[in-house]
Amino acid sequence: MWMAKEHIHKDVVIIGAGIAGLTAALYAGRMNLSVLVLENGIVGGQIANATGIENYPGFLRVSGRELIATVQQQAESFGAVVDEFDAIECVALGTAPKIIETAEYIYEADTVIIASGMNRRKLPLPEERTYANRGVHYCELCDGHMYQDKVIAVMGGGNAALDAANFLTKYARKLYLVHRSQLRADEVTQERLRSNPKAELLLETEIKALHGDGRLSSIDVLDKASGEIRSLDVDGLFVNIGVVPNTALFTEELTLSEGRIPAGEDCRTEIAGVFAVGDVRAKEIRQLTTAAADGTTAALLAGKYIDQLRGGNAKW
Ligand SMILES: Cc1cc2nc3c(=O)[nH]c(=O)nc-3n(C[C@H](O)[C@H](O)[C@H](O)COP(=O)(O)OP(=O)(O)OC[C@H]3O[C@@H](n4cnc5c(N)ncnc54)[C@H](O)[C@@H]3O)c2cc1C
Repeated sequence: MWMAKEHIHKDVVIIGAGIAGLTAALYAGRMNLSVLVLENGIVGGQIANATGIENYPGFLRVSGRELIATVQQQAESFGAVVDEFDAIECVALGTAPKIIETAEYIYEADTVIIASGMNRRKLPLPEERTYANRGVHYCELCDGHMYQDKVIAVMGGGNAALDAANFLTKYARKLYLVHRSQLRADEVTQERLRSNPKAELLLETEIKALHGDGRLSSIDVLDKASGEIRSLDVDGLFVNIGVVPNTALFTEELTLSEGRIPAGEDCRTEIAGVFAVGDVRAKEIRQLTTAAADGTTAALLAGKYIDQLRGGNAKW
């Protein structure tokens, strides 16, 4: 039997439970606001499976899992609710209240904090679908351990790709770095890889095809200078060729800039009461600390916005 969806009011709906969204939830919850965080993947986002974070103040070294679990616990201790199971179907942000329709409910929110982050760019070959998670991977921290003493290829030439390659040499018997031009990674990171005897750098090359019988077993690599194609036996291919901001939900509502949401350091978007925080916001530096800072700013300004909406005279 068809049932109308229940309407539920929230002071703040946060889209995405990465470090930015959870920090916003912690701050908003602490202001006694009703807070819902909607997550459609893994709580923790990009950092969920990272093993050794060494640049988050207050910790010499912490795993993503531990850091995120702590922030989630802090947010929940102030009443924020994190829902990982109710996918958002559509949003209307210019209305009052703002509407977030999920599979189960229609949420009416005074403010919305968009903390949807970004994902890795997929390998642009038709075989990607055949071999995804059967040899083709995007997260070295999640899947690298499956390749102990195996041959691994890494595709990409930026810092993230070389960090991944350096990390994967822990497991690999042999590691190829395949990149279509010269490396863009910083010198220290490049040197670390170049000096590793397990690593072979194949620059000015392109992966043209993947082969295997249900699982990846080899890749065809084109040498762009000579036009030769070399077949490399590899067990795993880790693709690290850029990122895609998670903004598909907002294309009708907000003007985007290179896929990201424009907002200043105050995280305010072009729509009053809608904030963009963390890696989804158009900005230069994307780190855990900057994402957490955005979450802080947005939550405090959301509180101020709500106070004004209700006729208060917030001065803070
Ligand atoms: C492997 C790796 C290692 C890193 N190491 C470090 C490090 O050591 N130090 C550091 O400072 N930074 C590091 N970074 C960068 C750091 O992880 C990011 O800057 C930070 O996690 C961004 O947080 P975020 O909350 O903005 O976004 P994300 O972590 O991307 O989280 C966004 C969340 O929103 C969810 N989401 C997306 N769309 C929707 C939707 N429609 N509905 C509901 N939920 C949605 C996603 O599933 C995700 O959980 C690393 C990144 C990677 C990939």
